[in-house]
Amino acid sequence: MATNSSGGKTYYKTGEPALVKGTYRLARHIDSTTCSPSEVERQIPLSAGETIPPCKSCKTGAYWSLEKFG
Ligand SMILES: [Zn+2]
Repeated sequence: MATNSSGGKTYYKTGEPALVKGTYRLARHIDSTTCSPSEVERQIPLSAGETIPPCKSCKTGAYWSLEKFG
């Protein structure tokens, strides 16, 4: 297994390009919200270079972490 830095996860923000292809998981919203997306809505497949989308449920900006490569 690859070694992860122990400094915590890297988060990708809505509007930024995805650096690697993989499945991304919604970590939290940028603004506080009562939105509570489903598990399906929390996970999105992205290709490298694709723009990180907003939350599928409420369409506002969010932070995403890379859940799985590929
Ligand atoms: Zn939302």
